[in-house]
Amino acid sequence: MWFRRDLRLTDNPALLAAIDAGEEIVPVFILDPKLIQATGTKRLAYMAASLRSLDESLGNKLHVCVGDQVDVLNELKKKYNATSVHISAEYEPYGVARDSRVEAAGIELTRTGSPYAVAPGRVKKPSDATNYRVYTPFYRGWLAHGWRAAVAAPKTINAVTPEDKDRNFPTWQAPAGSEIPAAGEKAAHDRFKKFKANGLDSYDETRNFAGIDGTSKMSAHLKWGEIHPRTLLTGLGESKAHDTFRKEIAWREFYADVLHNYPHTDKDYYAPQFANMRYDEPGEKFIAWREGKTGYPFVDAGMRQLLKEGWMHNRVRMVVASFLAKDLHIEWQHGALFFEEHLVDFDVASNAHGWQWTAGCGTDASPYYRVFNPIEQGKRFDENGDYIRKYVPELAHLKADEIHEPWDSADGYKHGYAKKIVEHSAERIESLARLEEIKVRNTE
Ligand SMILES: Cc1cc2nc3c(=O)[nH]c(=O)nc-3n(C[C@H](O)[C@H](O)[C@H](O)COP(=O)(O)OP(=O)(O)OC[C@H]3O[C@@H](n4cnc5c(N)ncnc54)[C@H](O)[C@@H]3O)c2cc1C
Repeated sequence: MWFRRDLRLTDNPALLAAIDAGEEIVPVFILDPKLIQATGTKRLAYMAASLRSLDESLGNKLHVCVGDQVDVLNELKKKYNATSVHISAEYEPYGVARDSRVEAAGIELTRTGSPYAVAPGRVKKPSDATNYRVYTPFYRGWLAHGWRAAVAAPKTINAVTPEDKDRNFPTWQAPAGSEIPAAGEKAAHDRFKKFKANGLDSYDETRNFAGIDGTSKMSAHLKWGEIHPRTLLTGLGESKAHDTFRKEIAWREFYADVLHNYPHTDKDYYAPQFANMRYDEPGEKFIAWREGKTGYPFVDAGMRQLLKEGWMHNRVRMVVASFLAKDLHIEWQHGALFFEEHLVDFDVASNAHGWQWTAGCGTDASPYYRVFNPIEQGKRFDENGDYIRKYVPELAHLKADEIHEPWDSADGYKHGYAKKIVEHSAERIESLARLEEIKVRNTE
């Protein structure tokens, strides 16, 4: 059983298939130097903790190997006379290429299940069997397609005992001062239970408020497959709150489907005309954005949450992304790469398409004239300023009616808060002018 981003026992059909296929299984995770290189320390630390947790639930039987996947799998197959290699199917460009390479080297892979309720590529338009390019009809098709019921964890697992040389658990630690979420299958279920008890029934009302713990925080658990989306969907009712939550899970599935159909869109423009727009080179202003020192409190709070926790509230992800693309006129890929480095929940499809949506060049693109106002967004979604106060201590002394516009307060800068690096109202006009040059007319 080759684990990759399915680090769990419950609702893991590939694991059940592996168990069914023989007397004993060989559970293995292979550390991939290429992926490790592209991953920041917070996500590496999370992964290390998640592997420990999986190992514990497997009775310390997890092989953690370093090396080329073909070499590692061949060696284990030989050592244990393994008759089949089981995986959960992968759909992202990198994983697909890796698995094809392994198969081309003569290792047959048995695919059971995927990290999605409905595997990418399955939801098609009934009229002509092509894929959807717009979310709402996709959602309807996805619901109509439906998904299998969740399956329980295996009752017993007979696994071979690994040699010490195959126990290369990484020891990555999160940087000092950071606070990454707890990893592992148990942590995922504990958090979901808490969300069901306290947040799910009011999710539609609270999910946009950055200072409220009103979202599920399932994204990192889903990224690593510590919980399956089916498990989250099971038991949802028809209330507005439950429906809104189901629709968010479906966004993850939609973006995976879009990336599967247009694999180049992990790095390239979904709407190609945007490649011709005038952009600014990422310089000093980009550095200020990365460090949470743009002088716009809501933007800076978001970036500092990302740096500290490896997670950012969805509303604020949209605001900081819009600020980079439309106030600083920097190409979305620069921001996406920075998110890739820092997000514990980094998901190539949701990240690339979350960015492209905000920049206006993605699916369901926001209308070209919509430029998030970072001040008004803060006033609306962090009314009391609690979120800003939490992450931007230089502004913690300001009251709710001052914190969003420190430039209007006599003592707004007394603790060294950064001055605005651009004037939003002017950059909005500049952004619209640049869009006009490529004649984008994607109205609502
Ligand atoms: C610029 C940008 C970059 C993003 N990058 C990522 C990323 O790398 N990884 C990632 O998982 N999400 C990404 N998102 C989507 C979203 O911000 C996160 O999924 C969400 O904030 C995670 O918090 P949660 O689990 O509490 O979400 P909840 O609100 O509780 O939602 C439940 C689940 O639904 C899915 N979901 C919710 N909103 C979205 C969305 N807009 N797009 C896709 N899936 C969604 C997630 O799997 C999430 O865990 C990005 C959004 C933007 C605007």
